[in-house]
Amino acid sequence: MPRVTNVTSQMEHALREDIVRHCRLLHQRGYLAANDGNVSARLDANRLLVTPSGVHKGFLEPGDLIIVDMKGNKLSGERTPTGELALHLRALAQRPDCNAVVHSHPPLAIAMSLTKKKLDGILPEVTLSLGRLQVVPYKRPLTDDLARAVAEALEQSDAIIMERHGTVAIGKDVAQAYGQTERIEHACQVLWSAYSLAAPRPVDESEQRALLRMYEASRLGRR
Ligand SMILES: [Zn+2]
Repeated sequence: MPRVTNVTSQMEHALREDIVRHCRLLHQRGYLAANDGNVSARLDANRLLVTPSGVHKGFLEPGDLIIVDMKGNKLSGERTPTGELALHLRALAQRPDCNAVVHSHPPLAIAMSLTKKKLDGILPEVTLSLGRLQVVPYKRPLTDDLARAVAEALEQSDAIIMERHGTVAIGKDVAQAYGQTERIEHACQVLWSAYSLAAPRPVDESEQRALLRMYEASRLGRR
């Protein structure tokens, strides 16, 4: 029995370190400022590790993280869970194939969401990697309305942009959800550059449908 407990605590320790490492990376990359952004990862079927509210992600420590159940009740930790906890819980409920959620404020993704310009169906590898490049229409931050709209959009994508706000990315682990965040911000950088020259041409509709089928097949393969 003690051996099992030991293995469990080692796993929890590694997951805490993993979340903190990626929070620092989000801050270093300029994807969030000060206390912004939040990250979560499943500890097991019934428990989630989440970042606290009110802590600068560049200075986050493993002991700052909080454990909640899948209804959002706090199980352990000194601090208060992120105010966007509902967004994490609904995202993971919608996508049982995923174990981690990264929410951040990448500047170009937010900027592009303010323009109403077409983003989806222009960059084939983005479609293959994360599905449709969607902008979820504005909902007030920290509300269940926002959480529900994001969860619904994640049915078609592994990463989405919330209008006027930021991104939400999911993955089988924190590294994958973080990687999708990088990918969506990089796509917005390319699209920003293209739009500064001329309106970029989308791929043919039939090609976009084929790319989406490939994305969906790869998602099924990950389950
Ligand atoms: Zn936010």
